[in-house]
Amino acid sequence: MTYLNDLFIDGTWRPGTEDRRFPVIDPADGTELATFAVATPGDCLDAVAAAERALPAWSATPPRERSELLRRCYEILAAEELTMTDIIVSENGKAHADALAEARYAREFFRWFAEEAVRIGGDFRLSPAGDKRITVTRQPIGVSVLVTPWNFPAAMATRKIAPALAAGCTVVLKPASETPLTAAYVIGVLERAGAPSGVVNLVTPAPTAPAVRAMLHHPAVRKLSFTGSTEVGRLLLHEAADNVISSSMELGGNAPFVVLEGADVADSVAGAMVAKMRNGGSACTAANRFYVHTSLLEEFSTELTAAMSRVRTGPGHDPENDLGALVSVAERDKVAALVDTAVDGGARVVLGGAASGAGAFYPPTVLADVTHGSEITRTEIFGPVVTLIGFDDPADAVRMANDTIYGLIAYVYGPPGDAMTVALAIDAGMVGVNRAVLSDPAAPFGGMKQSGLGREGSAEGIEEFLEEKYIGSPV
Ligand code: NAD
Repeated sequence: MTYLNDLFIDGTWRPGTEDRRFPVIDPADGTELATFAVATPGDCLDAVAAAERALPAWSATPPRERSELLRRCYEILAAEELTMTDIIVSENGKAHADALAEARYAREFFRWFAEEAVRIGGDFRLSPAGDKRITVTRQPIGVSVLVTPWNFPAAMATRKIAPALAAGCTVVLKPASETPLTAAYVIGVLERAGAPSGVVNLVTPAPTAPAVRAMLHHPAVRKLSFTGSTEVGRLLLHEAADNVISSSMELGGNAPFVVLEGADVADSVAGAMVAKMRNGGSACTAANRFYVHTSLLEEFSTELTAAMSRVRTGPGHDPENDLGALVSVAERDKVAALVDTAVDGGARVVLGGAASGAGAFYPPTVLADVTHGSEITRTEIFGPVVTLIGFDDPADAVRMANDTIYGLIAYVYGPPGDAMTVALAIDAGMVGVNRAVLSDPAAPFGGMKQSGLGREGSAEGIEEFLEEKYIGSPV
């Protein structure tokens, strides 16, 4: 397969000015898929300058035309879903079904924001004394820097590009260096759909930090939209502070999965499998800690372990495999170290628990007798590992669920009234009640506490790229 593997700046694909390249690796077998152009900080500033030049015309482009560009992207991605699936599997390692689901989820942001582009409203009112007119309009915030992670290399890009373009902003996308091929494919689709030069730009700097810092200090940049770890998010908030850049942050998670007394065990196990194993556990939304009422703990543990043991692990290109590789050997080793530390601390391995063989694979793993507060319950595991913890009083489940710096998402299974009571008490931006997949372009996605700032998707998603302007006048 031939990949787009250069920078895209001002409507042109080109190598970096230093003509350096970095390898893109298939984590299932360690082979080199392609080399990708390294952007210098100067290349990144060229991309910002191109976005700045393109901004006046793009923000003045009729909303219907902006909408139709996004709709064309949706149509192309629908026609080519297997191409995108293949690229995602190759460089990310995830299972075919997960990659196909991502390809479908990713394109929905183009469809959703094609619809939102023509619905940007304003406000009009009279002052209380009736002698002044208050008009509020919304305008694009300006040049936007978008920084995305490797775990959903397509969807995290489209979830930002689509609302930015719908709002009338121009963008520079900086994808994760593990997964630049998917990002380049998405940018290629925008090019084919007719995005004017400079409206979307792609840069892949190495090292990353100085180049992103340079962009965030360019006076034209007015928006940073970041998805990634809380650790890097904190650093970028500091960088963005210098020029007081509006920042949207989709950061890490540490999702609790609470099973209340009276829950339907089969239903809870089915939900647990999805909440844990979607994307091989490499999701900010992945259930990280399972708090199960002691009356159900044994049955839940037995059934979940049986379901986990049926998961077929192997290269994502084989659609028969349910669980692919982690994105890199380094990431696999991080998961292995977390499990080893938990076991040293007294956790009991019920299933899996050790990587073997070549490639960045980690087996489906279940750990029982995990101590709440131990490292594995405080850290995003980002792999196929279940940690089981019992509770007797739902108040304890809520306390443990909230005992984290994160607040992205939580899951509660149980009788609907009880589950709703617990859902309302958990500090998370999203809670699934007897439901395990919440990602939906029509819903506001985002976290509380150190899981983030702002929301993506839904009507809120476009607001992140708009600024209100109040115009006062006499009646
Ligand atoms: P990461 O924070 O390591 O990297 C994210 C992006 O930031 C990448 O493009 C990376 O190159 C860049 N980056 C890294 N260091 C940087 C620096 N010093 N300056 C500027 N840019 C820098 O995250 P990751 O490992 O790619 O992705 C996994 C993380 O993303 C997890 O924590 C996960 O929870 C989070 N995530 C959150 C959401 C959400 O919507 N909340 C969605 C997906 C992933």
